[in-house]
Amino acid sequence: MEAESLMKRNPNAFLKYEYEELVRKNFDWKLRILESGSTPHSVVDGKEVIMLCSNNYLNLSNHQRLIQGAIDATKKFGAGSGSVRAIAGTMALHIEVEKRLAKFKGTESSLIYQTGFAANAGLIPQLAGKGDIIISDELNHGSIIDGVRLTKADRAIFKHRDVGDLEKVLIDANKKYNRILVITDGVFSMDGDIAPMDEIVKVSQRYGAMTYVDDAHGEGVIGPDGRGIGSHFRIEGKIDVEMGTFSKAYGVVGGLIAGSQDLVNFALNKSRTWLLSGSHPPAVAGAQLAAIDVLETEPQHVKNLWKNTEYFKKELNSMGFDTGDSQTPITPIIVGESSIAKELSSKLFDEGIFALPIVFPMVARDKARIRTMMNAGLTKKDLDYTLGKFNKLGKKLKII
Ligand SMILES: *Cc1c(COP(=O)(O)O)cnc(C)c1O
Repeated sequence: MEAESLMKRNPNAFLKYEYEELVRKNFDWKLRILESGSTPHSVVDGKEVIMLCSNNYLNLSNHQRLIQGAIDATKKFGAGSGSVRAIAGTMALHIEVEKRLAKFKGTESSLIYQTGFAANAGLIPQLAGKGDIIISDELNHGSIIDGVRLTKADRAIFKHRDVGDLEKVLIDANKKYNRILVITDGVFSMDGDIAPMDEIVKVSQRYGAMTYVDDAHGEGVIGPDGRGIGSHFRIEGKIDVEMGTFSKAYGVVGGLIAGSQDLVNFALNKSRTWLLSGSHPPAVAGAQLAAIDVLETEPQHVKNLWKNTEYFKKELNSMGFDTGDSQTPITPIIVGESSIAKELSSKLFDEGIFALPIVFPMVARDKARIRTMMNAGLTKKDLDYTLGKFNKLGKKLKII
């Protein structure tokens, strides 16, 4: 490079330029600050609101048993783990969580990663390589997409939840590739619909393909007592990789995979995110263990979540709101134009209800929405208050 253009080059100029570009398009994130725990009534930017956009579905993040689990583990083992899992960072507590989780989910074994994102980014690239193909649902989560980008495998997509289309792609792949990996979200985070996992497994097995489901929004939510998508379809142990997270319904943080012992042996020896990044502090493992305890012994949380979900959806629909194809506590309220979704969200906030708009490019231009997540800890009074405001504002903004 010429000396003159080197002098002209400002290595940091793109930071400001690209940020301002986002601001101009109104695509930048304006962070809302929680000044309380993430609870059904939270304090956000100084205002008490009914929380409708937390993934803390079962209200476990402030459950006494989880808090105590974190405190006890910290007192006994300290604030940090000291190492990556593979070297000196595997504590008896981590192993206990994995054993308990596998038992809870009805699989042979399980493995905990730092986050769900780390599980996808670490494991997916090891499952397929050159000469192989990964087939994804077109609406898969960004962390799956990033995991797939780290492989040398070829890629193909199938139409959203369309098993017929998946089979077409499989027939084509069958002739050309060695290994085939089929990946899908379990519960889709934008629409709250569920992948037909029983059929996906059946058709994949026909072509010798491996199945991988990201059940981040299904863990703790679907299946008996929240055991996840394998239990939901009564196909425990038949999905090759069930991946999920402790950061949503479980109320803590941490990625998980559940499946065979062969899978876990392979995954822990090969996943770079697992091998090269520190393990969870004792507090996290202690809270995870308590979360599994709570799911096993307090069925009321999952029951309340579904009771609230059914009531909320039924009332919204009878007012004339479009809640799309949702089959889960993720309840989108589809309003059309981005500007209407933003206005509805802002007016709801004024009324003490926190529900964020999801607009293009996260969803199609004419499918802008408010995305609400139901919570087990909301009372009937909270729901009626919320529904009353939706009714009032829906009419005012001519949505219903
Ligand atoms: C939230 C989410 C993740 C990431 O999980 P973390 O444990 O929070 O990293 C992965 N996949 C899907 C589908 C998710 O919704």
